[in-house]
Amino acid sequence: MARKFNFSAGPAMLPTAVIERAQRELPDWQGSGMSVMEMSHRGKEFMSIAERAERTLREIMAIPDHYKVLFLQGGASSQFAMVPLNLLGARTSADYLNTGMWSKKAIAEAKRFCQVNIAADTSEDGFTRVPSQEELSLNPDAAYVHYTPNETIGGVEFDYIPDTGDVPLVADMSSTILSRPIDVSRFGLIYAGAQKNIGPAGLTIVIVREDLLGRCAEMAPTMFNYQVHADSGSMYNTPPTYSWYMAGLVFEWIKEQGGLSAIAEVNRRKAEKLYAAIDRSSLYANPVDKNARSWMNVPFTLADPALDAAFLQGAAERGLLTLKGHRSVGGMRASIYNAMPEEGVDALIAYMEDFERSH
Ligand SMILES: *Cc1c(COP(=O)(O)O)cnc(C)c1O
Repeated sequence: MARKFNFSAGPAMLPTAVIERAQRELPDWQGSGMSVMEMSHRGKEFMSIAERAERTLREIMAIPDHYKVLFLQGGASSQFAMVPLNLLGARTSADYLNTGMWSKKAIAEAKRFCQVNIAADTSEDGFTRVPSQEELSLNPDAAYVHYTPNETIGGVEFDYIPDTGDVPLVADMSSTILSRPIDVSRFGLIYAGAQKNIGPAGLTIVIVREDLLGRCAEMAPTMFNYQVHADSGSMYNTPPTYSWYMAGLVFEWIKEQGGLSAIAEVNRRKAEKLYAAIDRSSLYANPVDKNARSWMNVPFTLADPALDAAFLQGAAERGLLTLKGHRSVGGMRASIYNAMPEEGVDALIAYMEDFERSH
């Protein structure tokens, strides 16, 4: 087996140990005589897989008991609509922090359902920083405050959790969930598409404080109602069973690594050494304020974009894949989620230094 280092922003690398375990269990899951893909979601085998995944996630994230964990479909993009549909209740406006491409998409969707107050906006700085707490103009009557702790495209990450007083804080954690310990009790709702740091695409995780349930708009489709999913253990309809199972294997892998604080140590080290390599070179540059640099997505440009193609080709020859930056930003982007081993980052840095010497 020749696994290469895949720097894709998503779907992204999964831990090799997880892939191998899934391979072993693929044709016959623990003596059941069938693959997890072939099981009824209501059978006792899958029920045990589902419960174990949730239990392990609750343990590694220390999720308090008064939060529900939902295993949904539709991606983070469906949450852009589900959040306003479920959390507005009798209120008519919500606060949004505009810090990059994903915030913008969340804002555009929310505008279909409510009045959106832009409580902070860093677009004039090209989305290269995070707004400070003092900069936030929060409306005390807002139904909630929405932000994107890690902007996957710009590589911009909050280094603090905004204080929103009594107004529930909602976070699109798609590209930073499980990268470090977080205090879940600071949030009203957390959502994340699985394909970055959780597992395969097709699964979306929502962690929601129980008191925020039960206020869904009447007109909302049944499938868009959190309460329906909470009441049915995320089995109102057929859930994405295989992705749920794979997510459970990833949660167990995280636990085996020593949990989120151990994972965070490795992530911090990986990011620090990559940014240090960029900063000490005269070929590569990253535009993001130092305090706002993402641990997970590291965009960088080459001083001469004419070298981009040669850089990508040479990288691929060394088994360093999917480094091309997002079309809106150009240049390169190295996504270094939990499953990217430190050796992958070391190999990338060594390649970048060689390339700079020879160009
Ligand atoms: C990837 C991503 C999304 C989109 O997720 P889908 O599951 O494709 O809908 C939304 N927000 C952030 C921060 C992302 O990284």
